[in-house]
Amino acid sequence: MHSSDEGIAIIDPGYTSSFRAVLRFVEEDTLGQIDWVILTHHHIDHAGAAFALCQATGARLAVHRDDAPYLQRGRPRNRMTLWGMAERLPARLASYVVSTAPGEPRLLEDGDVIAGLRVVHGPGHTPGSICLYSESQSALFLGDVLNNERGIRTPPWTVNHSHRRARLAPQRLEGLRFEQAYFGHGTSILAGADQRVLVFLTHRRLVPAHATGQS
Ligand SMILES: [Zn+2]
Ligand SMILES: [Zn+2]
Repeated sequence: MHSSDEGIAIIDPGYTSSFRAVLRFVEEDTLGQIDWVILTHHHIDHAGAAFALCQATGARLAVHRDDAPYLQRGRPRNRMTLWGMAERLPARLASYVVSTAPGEPRLLEDGDVIAGLRVVHGPGHTPGSICLYSESQSALFLGDVLNNERGIRTPPWTVNHSHRRARLAPQRLEGLRFEQAYFGHGTSILAGADQRVLVFLTHRRLVPAHATGQS
């Protein structure tokens, strides 16, 4: 949950089954009304509870323009990644696995500001993958642009729409200053997060040179 003068947002509420847990957290909290449910991308482990949460709280859904079609019926087919498997399920079963949106979401674009968060488009993992940047709170929500499960990494090729672009996506973060980083997968970093991301990006650039013996 992210709160600012410009509204309160829940980012990536998670799997469909996490709906009640998220709602309990929201109700116990005194922050008031939720304005937005923002998705960093359309994958079910981030978006599954989104529509139920919108209905329960009156919040509006927001997602990048390029991922919005995946939340509608007749969505584009995923490439043959793990996520593509959901598309080969019988339609009635798939509706439990993949959410489809009843209403019109707000379509986000790079540079938009929503609930005090700036949208940083980093396509690759999905076409509309975004990070959300809070300058005032010095925090970055990375979705699946990077994970921190075994150190900072881009997602493996098996789950990316375009692996080549997914590898390039985090370079968009280079100029940002943020103390805290919250990942879709893996441990949050609560201090000096931008430096850790910078080390990852720099190290990765050096590795190919070493590998070819041209360092
Ligand atoms: Zn994902
Ligand atoms: Zn994920």
